[in-house]
Amino acid sequence: MTGLFAFRNFCGSWLGRQDSNLGMSVPKTDALPLGDAPTAAVFSEGGVALQGGNSEISHKLALNGFAGLGVGMENVDVIVLGAGAAGMMAAAEAGRRGRRVVVIDHAAKAGEKIRISGGGRCNFTNLNISAEKFISKNPRFALSALKRFTERDFVARIDAAGIAWHEKTLGQLFCDGQATQVVDLLLGEMRRAGVQLWLSCHVSDVTKSAAGYVVMTERGPVTGAAVIVATGGKSIPKMGASGFGYRLAEQFGIGLVETRPGLVPLTFAEQELDWMRPLAGVAVDGRVSCGKVGFDEAILFTHRGLSGPSILQISSYWREGQSLSINLRPSLDAKAWLREQKKNHGRQALRTVLTHILPERLARQLEVLSGVTGPLAEQSAATLDAVAGLMAQWPLTPVGSEGYRTAEVTLGGIDTDALDARTMQAKAVPGLYFVGEVVDVTGWLGGYNFQWAWSSGWAAGQVA
Ligand SMILES: Cc1cc2nc3c(=O)[nH]c(=O)nc-3n(C[C@H](O)[C@H](O)[C@H](O)COP(=O)(O)OP(=O)(O)OC[C@H]3O[C@@H](n4cnc5c(N)ncnc54)[C@H](O)[C@@H]3O)c2cc1C
Repeated sequence: MTGLFAFRNFCGSWLGRQDSNLGMSVPKTDALPLGDAPTAAVFSEGGVALQGGNSEISHKLALNGFAGLGVGMENVDVIVLGAGAAGMMAAAEAGRRGRRVVVIDHAAKAGEKIRISGGGRCNFTNLNISAEKFISKNPRFALSALKRFTERDFVARIDAAGIAWHEKTLGQLFCDGQATQVVDLLLGEMRRAGVQLWLSCHVSDVTKSAAGYVVMTERGPVTGAAVIVATGGKSIPKMGASGFGYRLAEQFGIGLVETRPGLVPLTFAEQELDWMRPLAGVAVDGRVSCGKVGFDEAILFTHRGLSGPSILQISSYWREGQSLSINLRPSLDAKAWLREQKKNHGRQALRTVLTHILPERLARQLEVLSGVTGPLAEQSAATLDAVAGLMAQWPLTPVGSEGYRTAEVTLGGIDTDALDARTMQAKAVPGLYFVGEVVDVTGWLGGYNFQWAWSSGWAAGQVA
């Protein structure tokens, strides 16, 4: 049995018991033949999959320290949708306040993006948090949450958990060991706060009545006074990204800012790829600008176009039709340098002198693209100035991006105008909260997105 069919079948087998609070039909749990009950996978802190019928899972859950599995109507205070960074933080905080919390995720494991983040070492925060590092219709919206639960607050939790870390560059903090340590930290906090965690559990519907919210899940309905939507964005659908949060916002009449992939490699037309492909694998520390915004980090040539931190950063600002300007040696006055090379090394070819400051393959390609042949001594000042122009302001026009398949984040999302910046609650829908990437707050590369997930999740967890 799969998907909706399984869900309908499951619902069809319920023998109506009337819930006085919500006036809706709920399953009579003892009528569920165990073999037909949806199988769930629940993961222990160590990440070992446990599969089986409900009683088996409940038993194993108990062994792993998480509260029991609900079969039939489950009543809690707070229902968190999404067991990613923001959802787990929100759940642990709400649970710590004594709220009965369930976290529901359709993926088989919690915190999968944390696990793969930062090349497996999780760039969990950044020491240089400020409004300009966040892209949003209202970049100042994020500040309230970011100031209340700061990067130092998260580092304190990392320290308390005994997780070793280091600053890599530009204030970026990474685990010395595996990113799964951060997942374990959050799972541990949830477990200690008595939070239930339902994995491999699909959510079909969320409705609101006077008494609260009803979330229809593969394991039956769950009711709660508050729903925290932490379902993330659309990036990496293979890892569970679904766009569910946006649909939910629409259902409740909450505004959306148009979404698009961010922190994503950029692609180029065949014409450019002809000369870019031979450079695949070449990296250079350069500056990439788009309009007034620029980033000084590595640029990487790939078989499909350009990637590397500078390109990922600029991709969040670039729009179709715009050109990028690339400076291959931002610290160098290329014009003066080339004239000096001509004076001192006139018998050398352009590519030869360029290899002193650029990777060899790139030096050769620049020579070809600039159409220079013969030794430097034979080049006119105008020719050398044109080469310098290419080195300092190389105009390149991407045709697109690699899309959500590889994007690290989703730009846009829940319109911040609709949310209370202090609590993340929807202004017009009491009890409904949005946290993390689903909100129209997108950080730069470098730990800013996780800090937003921690801070916004924390903010909702204090009040939901
Ligand atoms: C490859 C990669 C590397 C990254 N590295 C970093 C880094 O080092 N530092 C950094 O700051 N940021 C990094 N990011 C970005 C960061 O991972 C995200 O910004 C962050 O995970 C967002 O947290 P979230 O909890 O809002 O969403 P997510 O982590 O995406 O969690 C959302 C959860 O909701 C679940 N879900 C979705 N739809 C449904 C549904 N319909 N029903 C039930 N559950 C649902 C998903 O399965 C998922 O578990 C990286 C992203 C990627 C893709």
